[in-house]
Amino acid sequence: MKSKTKYIFVTGGVLSSLGKGLASASIGALLESRGLKVTIQKLDPYINVDPGTMNPFQHGEVFVTDDGTETDLDLGHYERFTNAVMSKNNNFTTGKIYESVIKKERRGDYLGATVQVIPHITDEIKASVKLLSEKADVVIVEIGGTVGDIESLPFLEAIRQFKADEDEENVLYIHLTLVPYIPASDEVKTKPTQHSVKELRSIGIQPDILICRTVKPLLKDIKSKIALFCNVRIDDVITAKDVNCIYEVPINFHSEGLDSKIFEHLNIKADKPNISVWKNVVCKLTQAEQIVKIAIVGKYITLKESYKSLNEALCHGGILNNCRVALIYIDSEELNKENCQEKFKDADAILVPGGFGTRGIEGKITAARYARENSLPYFGICLGMHIAVIEIARNKAGLIQANSEEFNPNTSDPVIYLMTEWYDAKKQKIEKRDKNSKKGGTMRLGAYPCHVKKDSLAYNAYQTQKISERHRHRFEFNNKYKEKLHNQGLIISGTSPDKHLVEIVEYIDNPWFLGCQFHPEFRSKPTKPHPLFTDFIKASHTNKKNRQ
Ligand code: GLN
Repeated sequence: MKSKTKYIFVTGGVLSSLGKGLASASIGALLESRGLKVTIQKLDPYINVDPGTMNPFQHGEVFVTDDGTETDLDLGHYERFTNAVMSKNNNFTTGKIYESVIKKERRGDYLGATVQVIPHITDEIKASVKLLSEKADVVIVEIGGTVGDIESLPFLEAIRQFKADEDEENVLYIHLTLVPYIPASDEVKTKPTQHSVKELRSIGIQPDILICRTVKPLLKDIKSKIALFCNVRIDDVITAKDVNCIYEVPINFHSEGLDSKIFEHLNIKADKPNISVWKNVVCKLTQAEQIVKIAIVGKYITLKESYKSLNEALCHGGILNNCRVALIYIDSEELNKENCQEKFKDADAILVPGGFGTRGIEGKITAARYARENSLPYFGICLGMHIAVIEIARNKAGLIQANSEEFNPNTSDPVIYLMTEWYDAKKQKIEKRDKNSKKGGTMRLGAYPCHVKKDSLAYNAYQTQKISERHRHRFEFNNKYKEKLHNQGLIISGTSPDKHLVEIVEYIDNPWFLGCQFHPEFRSKPTKPHPLFTDFIKASHTNKKNRQ
């Protein structure tokens, strides 16, 4: 059945990492600024069912949605740029599509037919896109990978069919390409774009709009050459010049007329644009004079994409404090008692982010200790909270063997452990697990309610006692040590509503020392910075001023 919903398909050509995710998110932001309701979906050609088990070194951060789906990091951009709330239906991979088709085949749903890529896989892909139709006026669908890859072919074939299935004016193809600049001859080259569009047309998709990534604005003669060779109108060739701040992208797209072009193609009558909110964000993020330096102590520091949401949330934290946030990445494996003074000499605060596995743990404990003993603000997120608890247990409570069962399953003092039985407020049932449970099934994933204690750093930040935050972890605070650690200044300021699961801890002899079991970075937007990040940056700024 044809739907009234409009679909925009965003493909990418020439090479990867051109910023298709940001482009899709920015298109979403622009359409919202003109009064439309949007949602965005990512179709990923890899065979993993979801990116949950993929190494962050290779694939960047795993983004977690409210409903507990582990997704591609582009969904983080989608939520930061728009009001759309992501769910399991916003990310499909080849693995997830095949899993569903194979299940149906085993059930006998195909009534004896030979199950094939066309039509069965392509139908499944189209059905997955259509799951979002009811959710918005416009569904933007980003196809992962680069046109020309074998893996993306079924997805491209499925979106090609969309134009035949739906009313023509409801389907739009946007292709993102690269127009490289050659310094030796001082010119930009259009050939890679021509080839990429040729590839796309060979599988039956004629792009309506081209977005061209470039370091130089594209002059009229270049745009007209691209238009001629790629069979698009000159006005439909959009320059996407490199930016210093990602939130400039919607503004630049608007000044290139992208929103009006989209409306023309899709025959939409929309409100007048209001992009002042993005101008304001960019101004705040780039013009502030004060700089606050945050040391991030982690193990994935060589690939900044691994901490995508965290980096963004920290920058958002500067917005209400009128300061810019500079990040100093410190490899936890290279940090020790001897060199930490030197490594932290420029840092106004320390943050230990989430992570998995034993590598670099002792360096992170050294970092938490340094923050505590030198009254530097400390923010521990998930694993970073575990680290703070272990550090205080070892160095203040005298439990020298204190550890997490994740790092030492036989520790005599498991201050962080695998809780074998607990009430899951989301699933509303008792959950059970043990050391032999399957890795995939035993994580606490997605949004869980938390009760915040008054008179705490957490309450100061949230200004409410009832919050909900997103989780992705297996290990928990061990309540057996609550009193012992409390006597040493570690208070519990957030718990599950039944008080069983510890969600936030704070160390009282420090201006701002907080660890949380959840990932607040997944909820921060430039238009609505997360309160914990705002307060952490505020404390870091105060610390900087006090030390000057
Ligand atoms: N590895 C820890 C756990 O599984 C922390 C996870 C995280 O930081 N996201 O509990």
